[in-house]
Amino acid sequence: MEINKSYHSEKYEQKKDLQYFLKGIKNGNRFILSEAITLIESTNLEKRNLALKILKELPVLTHSTIRIGITGSPGVGKSTFLDTLGKMLTALGKKIAILAIDPSSRLTKGSILGDKTRMEQLSKDPNAFIRPTASGTLLGGVSAATREAVDLCEAAGFDVIFIETVGVGQSETEIVNLVDIFCLMILPGAGDEIQGIKRGITEMANLVIVNKADGDRKLQALETSKQYENAFKLLPSRLPGWKTKVLTCSGLTGDGLSDVWNNINEVINHAHKTSFFHHQRKKQREIWFDEISRNMIIQYYLEKQSSADYIVTLRSSVLKGELTFYEALLTLSDELKK
Ligand code: GDP
Repeated sequence: MEINKSYHSEKYEQKKDLQYFLKGIKNGNRFILSEAITLIESTNLEKRNLALKILKELPVLTHSTIRIGITGSPGVGKSTFLDTLGKMLTALGKKIAILAIDPSSRLTKGSILGDKTRMEQLSKDPNAFIRPTASGTLLGGVSAATREAVDLCEAAGFDVIFIETVGVGQSETEIVNLVDIFCLMILPGAGDEIQGIKRGITEMANLVIVNKADGDRKLQALETSKQYENAFKLLPSRLPGWKTKVLTCSGLTGDGLSDVWNNINEVINHAHKTSFFHHQRKKQREIWFDEISRNMIIQYYLEKQSSADYIVTLRSSVLKGELTFYEALLTLSDELKK
């Protein structure tokens, strides 16, 4: 029995080689796409290497893609909005991928996003792929892995990629470097501080969406949008020649979603016309190459048992008082120079 079992698992493992992943991704297989993202996120060097080989062999894209960042505090209605907008877009023939980044998962090792039933409609749609991003990747930052996940999703045929974050400021500045357009979702009535949105995030937005503009809150939503619009008049725009727009909508009823989608397209068209789109993606590749290669160097160095031991010994010398904090860092600096 035992022999049989290991034979089967070996056969199963053997199947999951480079060709297995490339073929699966080429065919738009969402299960295999998800497995490939798990490889990207792996802290195991061998798996990580296979992930890099897959990424290297991905076919050149023959379709254009849009990468949309969407951020907002928990409860603002992001998943409901993406569920409704996503269904609208798949009905238009689009293939939607949603990569949700949850910064809390790094601490709790679980995901608040994964716990609730999110995007119920869209998750049943064969033209949608929804994936919460795990934490603690080999690359260090959550968003470095997300950057690679975007490449995988696009290669699997998805043409509209949403990257969703919760607006607490840790990942948003990095997410801006991943997307073509950055949208901030807010609630009617409350200011940035009350909504827990970090300073600076508002300024990064190309589009502000006042959600839950339905029922009693419709009027209040319009007022909020006017206030934000006025505030934006004073701020420089991230996209040259484009004033940040503030829109109202309801993810629940679907009201205003076509307008949001039209505006997203207007921003993208404007960015294409002014070559900003191309320029921004190029700049982002540069940023990510630096980020990922630096993380790789650190990780590979630390993976070597001798370097890990060396650092542990140095740290313990500091704790025992044998070396001062800075003596130990100088010793490490000399060691690294060798
Ligand atoms: P998320 O945490 O930002 O993803 O927010 P959810 O989409 O999970 O929504 C949080 C709560 O707000 C849920 O109870 C939703 O039913 C509700 N909600 C979401 N969108 C709307 C909306 O457009 N209008 C109203 N009235 N409620 C909404």
